[in-house]
Amino acid sequence: MENIKEIQNKILKLKKEKNALILAHYYVPLDVQDIADHVCDSFEMAKRAKEAKEKLIIICGVRFMGESAKILSPDKKILIPAPDAGCPMADMVTVDDVRRLKAEHPKAAVVCYVNSSAAVKAESDICCTSSSALRIAKAIEADEIIFIPDVHLAEYTASKVPDKKFIFHTGFCPTHHRITEADILAAKKAHPDAQFAVHPECRSEVLKHADFIGSTAEIIKFARETKAKEVIIGTEMEIAARLQRELPEKKFFSVTSAFVCPNMKKITLASVLNSLKNEEYEINLDEKEANAARQSLERMVAR
Ligand code: SF4
Repeated sequence: MENIKEIQNKILKLKKEKNALILAHYYVPLDVQDIADHVCDSFEMAKRAKEAKEKLIIICGVRFMGESAKILSPDKKILIPAPDAGCPMADMVTVDDVRRLKAEHPKAAVVCYVNSSAAVKAESDICCTSSSALRIAKAIEADEIIFIPDVHLAEYTASKVPDKKFIFHTGFCPTHHRITEADILAAKKAHPDAQFAVHPECRSEVLKHADFIGSTAEIIKFARETKAKEVIIGTEMEIAARLQRELPEKKFFSVTSAFVCPNMKKITLASVLNSLKNEEYEINLDEKEANAARQSLERMVAR
């Protein structure tokens, strides 16, 4: 059986031969992150795919990330290594849900978390990521906001924008939602000197114990810059592992060992090699839907 280094070298050789770009999300395994041209959160991933000169892009992440790249770069060939790597939160909101909410609240603007399908984005006014949700909610002209699908990110954003009325959906990320107040209290007891940096996809009962709340990229920045020697990381556990490798002089802890996104772990080195070799699995979208979704995404990227 080939070792990790051998597969990584094969990927890098093939990537060069095919002039491909590999973009990896922070939650995929570290050995996949190591062969990527860029490791990013979903916002940076969408932007980098759009700005790339390469015509072949491998998105090492879940399906909606591949869809966002395709929507913004329709002339490029966008591949995802694992066709079944979906996002349960994205699947929690349907086009019918959005249409119903719009009919019930005709004056409201629809702000759609980027963790959603192309079809749902097409029904929305603007997309956001966890790093831009607050900025976008504040800037939007409408006084009412239908925020889909993540109820936790919506509640956190609403708490910071009290002058607007928020209409929530019931979606959530199972990976972040799984973490309870008891989990963070236990982690704080085990590491009493540690600061706690957490993602707003977590429940409010968890967020209230935070020293810092932000997107994955913002959590990484905080962990690098804080004077604290120990940090409990309140997002997918690959982040604590990545930070520990990068900053061995500090200590990073995941809130629990259950902080895993199983879909992101479907992106293995073997699947990336196969993706490059056989140019699969290509993202193809309905043109009309992609055009409508592009407007929502481009408004997000422009803010
Ligand atoms: S961590 Fe949550 S939101 Fe992100 S891809 Fe996994 S299930 Fe979806």
